[in-house]
Amino acid sequence: VRFEDFGLSPDILKALSEQGYTHPTPIQAQAIPVVLQGRDVMGAAQTGTGKTAGFSLPIIQLLLAHASTSMSPARHPVRALILTPTRELADQVAENVKAYSRFTPLRSTVVFGGVDMAPQTATLRGGVEIVIATPGRLLDHVQQKTVNLSQTQILVMDEADRMLDMGFLPDLQRIINLLPKQRQNLMFSATFSPEIKKLAASFQNNPVTIEV
Ligand code: AMP
Repeated sequence: VRFEDFGLSPDILKALSEQGYTHPTPIQAQAIPVVLQGRDVMGAAQTGTGKTAGFSLPIIQLLLAHASTSMSPARHPVRALILTPTRELADQVAENVKAYSRFTPLRSTVVFGGVDMAPQTATLRGGVEIVIATPGRLLDHVQQKTVNLSQTQILVMDEADRMLDMGFLPDLQRIINLLPKQRQNLMFSATFSPEIKKLAASFQNNPVTIEV
């Protein structure tokens, strides 16, 4: 399999070749076509497998292919939300998303707690299509009305098991309730405990299971 086989935009392929990626990893080969079809995904994958590109690349492609249906005056509504348990992971994912989308008009940003909210607020107010966030700080921004999730068609929960371990379940439920009912849900977890399965069942719609 080659990245060219997935029908990704030339702007994405150019970014991949600049990253030095020649071939998709096994999880990318499985996840990219399924996400492009619009299906929900339940992915069992550890860090280091290339899972970040596995969900980021098809999300970028989907956002490029489907023009925003936004009726709001904001020119750049949040269309994809990626939740992570820690600021370190949020930062890493955000760097990847920025690298893969650098030749596209899409904008992305990262928000996490423990730092001043003001710069995050300014960036969110300017409009971004992709937000990478830790759950608590995202809800702080929702409360301050600096972020609006009413146009968010794609939700990713990365390292969902760690988010549950860290006590984020109530925050995750609150965030899910803010999203449109019709959306695509991607969930990645290193382990599939009964709690993870219960969370998945509560918000996913007939997911495709991917294991590597
Ligand atoms: P991840 O598991 O998403 O944290 O990715 C692990 C590392 O693999 C990151 O440094 C990525 O930049 C790199 N990577 C992801 N996909 C590929 C690929 N197809 N070819 C080479 N390196 C990759």
